[in-house]
Amino acid sequence: MDPQTAERNAQELKAQAQTFFKAEKYNRAANVYTEIIEQYGNTALADTIRIVRCNRAQCYVKLKKFDLAAEDCNAVLENPSQSTRDITLKAYLRLACSRRGLGQLSEALEALNTFRTLSGSTPEERDLRKDINSKMHPQPPSNPANLSVRPLRYNVQIGSHPAIIIIDEIPAVLCTSNPPEVRSKMFLANLVRRHDGDLMRRQAWTCWNCPRMATCMTHTPCAYFHLPEPMVVDYVQPVCINQGRCDMEARQFMAQEMARVTAAFPK
Ligand SMILES: [Zn+2]
Repeated sequence: MDPQTAERNAQELKAQAQTFFKAEKYNRAANVYTEIIEQYGNTALADTIRIVRCNRAQCYVKLKKFDLAAEDCNAVLENPSQSTRDITLKAYLRLACSRRGLGQLSEALEALNTFRTLSGSTPEERDLRKDINSKMHPQPPSNPANLSVRPLRYNVQIGSHPAIIIIDEIPAVLCTSNPPEVRSKMFLANLVRRHDGDLMRRQAWTCWNCPRMATCMTHTPCAYFHLPEPMVVDYVQPVCINQGRCDMEARQFMAQEMARVTAAFPK
């Protein structure tokens, strides 16, 4: 076949392959490019074959056949030609993509460095470089669920006193129907401790069990962390003497109350 016919046939097939590529039919496009290389690799213009291989590399990148893509890019780069300098540049970018796909990250950066030397930086080159760098230096995984907090309604019931509502915060990890037990208990203990002094100072409380002035409070916090608006209901009894008889009776009373409530609402 004479070179002119070969070139014309190659160009026709190339146009066909480009149509497949635009339609995202990468496999069919790659097959047509392969046909060109096999049929006219030695007879069509060298520049045409160079373009065809560079285009096939892009098909392989799309198909995630990165080893084949890299092979095509290397073939393109082994036969440089001044008239298809833009193809050389494309081949470096596609080589970088292929090496990234193969997990050869520093080699991918090398290809980008060469690209940059030849043409200066471009948006595509910068995006690729950024992505490769982020793969080389992955950020330690942050766990937002562990760090984030949610508003907590702290509902304090002191005898017949109107409920006191305090808005506090709760770690989001505890807001499940089955939160980690130790952390939940520590959270409850800290919540109570944080607010105990303020509650005590709100007014001159009288002992729940005798006419004396209260000097401290017993707390019985119940957790409802899993609700859409997480809540703690704290049944509080002012008592006259810490660890005295009224304190002890307060705890016994609440223990019985809780047992009664739990029995009434089995889980
Ligand atoms: Zn008392």
